[in-house]
Amino acid sequence: NRLSNDFQFIDVGRQDPSKKPARTRAREFAEIYESFKPMDAASQAHRCLACGNPYCEWKCPVHNYIPNWLKLVSEGNILEAAELSHRTNSLPEVCGRVCPQDRLCEGDCTLNDGFGAVTIGSVEKYITDTAFAMGWRPDLSKVVWSDKKVAIIGAGPAGLGCADILVRSGVKPVVFDKYPEIGGLLTFGIPEFKLEKTVMERRRAVFEEMGVEFCLNTEVGKDITFDAILEEYDAVFLGMGTYTYMQGGFPGEDLPGVHKALDYLIANVNHRLGFEKDPSDFISLADKQVVVLGGGDTAMDCNRTAIRQGASRVTCAYRRDEENMPGSRREVANAREEGVDFLFNRQPVAVVGEERVEGVKVVRTRLGEPDEKGRQRPEVVPGSEEIIAADAVVIAFGFQPSPAPWFENVGIELDERGRVKAPEHGAFAFQTTNEKIFAGGDMVRGSDLVVTAIYEGRQAAEGILDYLEV
Ligand code: FAD
Ligand code: SF4
Repeated sequence: NRLSNDFQFIDVGRQDPSKKPARTRAREFAEIYESFKPMDAASQAHRCLACGNPYCEWKCPVHNYIPNWLKLVSEGNILEAAELSHRTNSLPEVCGRVCPQDRLCEGDCTLNDGFGAVTIGSVEKYITDTAFAMGWRPDLSKVVWSDKKVAIIGAGPAGLGCADILVRSGVKPVVFDKYPEIGGLLTFGIPEFKLEKTVMERRRAVFEEMGVEFCLNTEVGKDITFDAILEEYDAVFLGMGTYTYMQGGFPGEDLPGVHKALDYLIANVNHRLGFEKDPSDFISLADKQVVVLGGGDTAMDCNRTAIRQGASRVTCAYRRDEENMPGSRREVANAREEGVDFLFNRQPVAVVGEERVEGVKVVRTRLGEPDEKGRQRPEVVPGSEEIIAADAVVIAFGFQPSPAPWFENVGIELDERGRVKAPEHGAFAFQTTNEKIFAGGDMVRGSDLVVTAIYEGRQAAEGILDYLEV
């Protein structure tokens, strides 16, 4: 019996769920990984050594009980595994799909020493997908409802994490979002080849069954005032993300044919989901020579979207080397398989062109002394200028905080970088400088990850419960 072997990791190597062939992937906006078959999930889960001090669990930002649910899966006990995984994570099926596991849980798996980490992310996804398909739903039958209600601004992972804990604790969450669907960047940023939109649609139905109310297509500060919300609710959680573009600050950025990464991705999602207000909003890079500038997850998503739209060539230029790219290595490998060309150690200095973009002028770099975060600074190699031909350029340099104008009126203070001050270890977790208002996710920590936003939303909910004395 394969599953009775404690040394399974020796006999059974790490095996990811199979991937569709790159040629098929490059033509469709659909997830590229197949699901595990039950026997494969069990046998992969059984590779876990159940370390006494599981590093994976510490490295996971929500501190999932990883070895425990791996054991349940290896025994075929999916429903119990789903219960357990939801104790620490509000969107496990999403994290299983989009977490950079190679930098988080799987990166710290003991089996990385020559055997290959346990496929933690794929098993996490398998648990929730399978449990939902079996009809499992979170059990709220023992919840005792209070008379408190909390407004949540933003239906991204931070807002949803907060809503999940509140509703399970008997406090009514009402979630406002300016978009027509929940998910924040999960729906309107991350493309379908990483996370199909049906995943969030299913989650929305589950949250609604649990008692979470969504007020979509509602921009706070425009369609409803924040003061009205503050007046009506017992507390407020802000999970509004970060949306100010980082610019390159070089000539030619405004030329026609130069696009901001998120504008490009959102236009594609709106086009595909039928949310497009005006057909001219759609940005098609079909038949274009595309240069994507940047090396993070957003850049990878733009590269792979352009490939799927039928770009004639996609080149990604990044100013450090491959080793020092900020995004997930898995996604870089996927992009390369799908036909993206990478130019490392290239720093853009100008977008060139007369009437519209014709190319990107770059200089070569080499890595020098570490900066304040310990990352080696790229230094320009003198006399190394070259022009990469392009008829479309996508700029993916990341995002800075985008504080709302009404923050000041209600006494919400920001730090020197424009992030909302809401310390985890203050009087109440993630409370802002207005005692009734809490905040978390990208707007508090700066652009980061789905799983850290979920964590902060959940912890902020605990802070709110303490504040409301529920
Ligand atoms: P968001 O997800 O940005 O949600 C904020 C929500 O607030 C939005 O829905 C917005 O509409 C709403 N909102 C803002 N202002 C208002 C208002 N005034 N009124 C009403 N609603 C409002 N992370 C990963 O872990 N893995 C990945 O693979 C990954 N890929 C990414 C790809 C892209 C293209 C981008 C841009 C980011 C990616 N990230 C990834 C990062 C991750 O998506 C974010 O860190 C995460 O979504 C932050 O969650 P949040 O809830 O703080 O904010
Ligand atoms: Fe790994 Fe992310 Fe799941 Fe944590 S939430 S176990 S880091 S995939």
